[in-house]
Amino acid sequence: MRLVRFGLPEEERPGVLDASGTVRDASSLVRDWSGNALEVGALRDLARSDVSQLPVAEARSRLGCPIGTPGKIICIGLNYADHAEETGFDLPREPLIFFKSPTALSGPFDPIVIPATANAVDWEVELAVVMGGVARNVRPGEAASLVAGVAVANDVTDRQWQFERGGQWSKAKSADTFAPLGPWLVTLDELPASLDLRIWLRKNDVPRQESRTGRLVFPVSQIVAHLSEFMTLLPGDLVLTGTPQGVAYNKPDPDYLKEGDIITCGIEGLGSQRCEIHAATCAKRTTNPLK
Ligand code: ZN
Repeated sequence: MRLVRFGLPEEERPGVLDASGTVRDASSLVRDWSGNALEVGALRDLARSDVSQLPVAEARSRLGCPIGTPGKIICIGLNYADHAEETGFDLPREPLIFFKSPTALSGPFDPIVIPATANAVDWEVELAVVMGGVARNVRPGEAASLVAGVAVANDVTDRQWQFERGGQWSKAKSADTFAPLGPWLVTLDELPASLDLRIWLRKNDVPRQESRTGRLVFPVSQIVAHLSEFMTLLPGDLVLTGTPQGVAYNKPDPDYLKEGDIITCGIEGLGSQRCEIHAATCAKRTTNPLK
């Protein structure tokens, strides 16, 4: 199944794509795509129902972030060998983890807004995993049965905040709109068990990142097992699995994002995003109709 949320920001309703790709309103079945509604068993029951009977969403509806606010977003750093090399780090011996604020989430076609004091905003296309069960000290072999599905994410990062402002990486990764997610949450039964999928990102239509999720140093099953040693993962929690080579950072002349740039990115079978870059002042204008 492909799950979506549609409607205006903060008013999104849960939806599901039918066989023809039409968005159907699932709000008569679930309150939101969050928490227990994302349990693997609940999704399996839903998959058996006839979604073609559900009302069709308005054709021009905005697609929002495909899940409701998760309890936590955990990110894995340096999980592709070529990206660790380009950033000048050694490959971690265990998954390197940091948190991203859930308030960073935004829709797959929403603007990415550069905060007023940020000047080195970079991109990171990533495979995102949404939990569909409680994971506490699980083994890698059990992990897949606890995953609701996967989606495209962009782990937007300010490199100056990350490397020059001290403290932890969460600081550089958590601004509003720094986590476009979607367009869809795709359940695992729709995908090959290997999860070896093409992953790509273009800036202003120029290819910048191109890899396969099969090249993850720590694959999804190992990440879930590893995290569950240190914390309990709950249905709806989100895990970003790391980005491949091709970010702006560490280029001789990094072309960080600026107003008007367009980032498109996607993963085979999971759809693609298109986000325009706005400067903070520009966003203020568009959100205040009185000015
Ligand atoms: Zn990342």
